[in-house]
Amino acid sequence: MSSLLIRNGRVLDASTGFDGVRDIAITDGKFAQSAPNGSPEFNARGMIVAPGFIDMHVHLREPGMEHAETIESGARAAAAGGFTTICCMPNTTPVNDSATVTSYIVSRAQQNAIVHVLPIGAITKGLAGEELAAIASMKKAGIVAISDDGRPVMNSRVMRRAMEFARSLDLPVIDHCEDLNLSAGGDMHEGVMSTRLGLRGIPSSSEDVMVARDIILAETTGARYHVAHISTRHAVSMVAFAKARGLRVTAETTPHHFVLHDKELHRYDSNYKMKPPLRCEIDVDAVIEGVVSGAIDAIATDHAPHAGNDKMQEFERCPFGITGLETAIGLSLEALVHTGRISLMRMVELFTTGPARVLSLAAGTLAEGATADVTIFDAERSWTYDVSQSQSKSRNSPFDGKVFRGGPVATVVNGRIVWSVC
Ligand SMILES: [Zn+2]
Repeated sequence: MSSLLIRNGRVLDASTGFDGVRDIAITDGKFAQSAPNGSPEFNARGMIVAPGFIDMHVHLREPGMEHAETIESGARAAAAGGFTTICCMPNTTPVNDSATVTSYIVSRAQQNAIVHVLPIGAITKGLAGEELAAIASMKKAGIVAISDDGRPVMNSRVMRRAMEFARSLDLPVIDHCEDLNLSAGGDMHEGVMSTRLGLRGIPSSSEDVMVARDIILAETTGARYHVAHISTRHAVSMVAFAKARGLRVTAETTPHHFVLHDKELHRYDSNYKMKPPLRCEIDVDAVIEGVVSGAIDAIATDHAPHAGNDKMQEFERCPFGITGLETAIGLSLEALVHTGRISLMRMVELFTTGPARVLSLAAGTLAEGATADVTIFDAERSWTYDVSQSQSKSRNSPFDGKVFRGGPVATVVNGRIVWSVC
């Protein structure tokens, strides 16, 4: 455990609403009144100092597909993106549907990860959508939520039972909302662009009907329910409606869903192929509106590394998903803050107290005594993303070569600087 003094930064803490220049002292890995004499110092003048950012939706490919990402490399990419905590989805090989796999991930993370890694367990065995996974024992082993992400739970009876069970354990249920019968065979958003490009479409309704179903089941069961990577206007308004009714319903969106449109697909570049697909302008505007209004609680990256050969196939054959950890702060600043849609404080909230509340984590604060996780970023610094230098093992980002205004500067985990720009 270490001590550190972060000096002269503009501190933004969404847990208290504090916004002002002050020093942050860390002793023995916790925030403290003061740091011991001779502690290392970090000069954060002109920078934003915030509680450690949390990415509640990340795919690490360990166990099973370590050539695409490991817990170690994914954690390094997270640190380089300004994240101090990441939650990893269970679609590994084997699937994280038992305490054995959960414990494996937890111990690998303890040995190798430079940020906190919190596993999310499967809802159903093998993500098959039929039998419930070993949810209670996974919870004892350390999962913070359940999800079959990558796949929806198509069977409504199974989803209802999962919600009843999760409620008794006070675990949130995260759903990847996609009606597979409606989306079957689709490669991009169904609309004018898919017709023009001759690509098979995934209609917005494939997301909408599942969000509707899940909200009804959340009301029936009283479960905590969270919509992963929300992308359509109807889904956003249904979540707002559920919140207004007092249901425990929350949602996250990803930077690519509020930065990019389906128009990008004209390049037939597989780095624009993801699920849910990039939507049309009306949906993108509604997602941003949901971020502004509070219908959306968190920004998550859905970091989905794929090894080179997998993404180098023809468009229809290549897998869905892009990496996202290292570009999330830059994209959020660009699309939300620099455009004047939200304040810097609201952005900090979406990366800290927002996800912390969804998952009931004791994180997202600079309060004395709390674990000293800090994200230091610069809202103005100009930098260029070079994917060949990525800390991730994969290179599937559509943002290679992009010039950003603002980005992460240093990442502090347990009071230690685990990454910094220079
Ligand atoms: Zn998903």
